[in-house]
Amino acid sequence: MALIVQKYGGTSVGDVERIQNVARRVKATADEGNQVVVVVSAMSGETNRLIDLAHQISESPELREYDVLVSTGEQVTIALLSMALNKLGCPARSYTGAQVHILTDSSHTKARILDIDDQPVRTDLESGRVVVVAGFQGKDENGNITTLGRGGSDTTAVAMAAALKADECQIYTDVDGVYTTDPRVVSTAKRLERITFEEMLEMASLGSKVLQIRSVEFAGKYNVPLRVLSSFEDGPGTLITYEDDQMEQPVISGIAFNRDEAKLTILGVPDQPGVAYKILGPIGEANVEVDMIIQNVAADSTTDFTFTVHRNDFEKAKTILQNVANELGAREVTGDTSIVKISLVGVGMRSHAGVASNMFQALARESINIQMISTSEIKISVVVDEKYLELGVRALHTAFNLDQAPAA
Ligand code: ASP
Ligand code: MG
Repeated sequence: MALIVQKYGGTSVGDVERIQNVARRVKATADEGNQVVVVVSAMSGETNRLIDLAHQISESPELREYDVLVSTGEQVTIALLSMALNKLGCPARSYTGAQVHILTDSSHTKARILDIDDQPVRTDLESGRVVVVAGFQGKDENGNITTLGRGGSDTTAVAMAAALKADECQIYTDVDGVYTTDPRVVSTAKRLERITFEEMLEMASLGSKVLQIRSVEFAGKYNVPLRVLSSFEDGPGTLITYEDDQMEQPVISGIAFNRDEAKLTILGVPDQPGVAYKILGPIGEANVEVDMIIQNVAADSTTDFTFTVHRNDFEKAKTILQNVANELGAREVTGDTSIVKISLVGVGMRSHAGVASNMFQALARESINIQMISTSEIKISVVVDEKYLELGVRALHTAFNLDQAPAA
């Protein structure tokens, strides 16, 4: 007998029929002799509807009341799903986050889980019931309702799985797994059988938005095996797990890309100690996150300094940089919002030489100009003109043998 935590997202419980479909899946898992804890999101669109209601009353509602409001969406789905399970003859009970003692800090709208008392859940499981828990919510030490941030039900599921030492945490969603890249860009993208926590974090933070990033961090920290599967079709999904030394790792697991970046350059800065700090200090103080950074020294002992920021922060960063340029006596500030970042991700590149040069060769063959490069242990990223996004991702997908074999 295994203990399994299953999480169903908003689209999977989007209407009564879908809730009944989820109930059938949960019952099937219980009928196989497993103990099952189910975590659900609000019905799709519901959380947005609640947020909109709040904003009709006030532009900046008290965050305590905001959490009381937005947490109600999940309370609806736990009750409906438990009713559907009972109707199918599968005994089930629903619990809000507070009822299963998901203790969080008091940062309303973005609370962090501190502790879970697993006893009430265990008691139900041992008496043969399915336990249905509201995702996204908890309570602080004073009993105030808190929420965990948008998409937070994934984190609830992983936290429940960690607390219960579950055998697996299954995240049911509207895609059937994690893909080598976005199938809308590369039609031959294939579902991965497995991927490591580390790789998944890189894929997720680079824009493959299958899971809330925090839930993957949490799963990695507590070593909770996570599986992403479709709630609409059967299949093994993708297992997200720790690195298995026994297994030969593919060199590259996937290709991520990010369309949200913009590039800024300050030209002709005197090449002196402290210059990088003078440039990036004010950017950081303005709460603008910097991603890639390149500095290059010219023969005339000035330096050009280039970095990328989120496109939404571009104008703000440019204004700051112009002021810095005046102070430092720099020659010019330039910027470009029509860039994208493409990244190869794979733990296998740690033990393989030549990945970067293969990447650059594949891009060169398509005459794609690389504007910036950055590397980490398991990732190589390039910035290119946005018009090359599709071409670049496809070329790399083929060059690293990620294409799905054509159907026989
Ligand atoms: N209902 C919440 C949201 O829409 C939490 C979740 O779906 O995970 O963000
Ligand atoms: Mg969701």
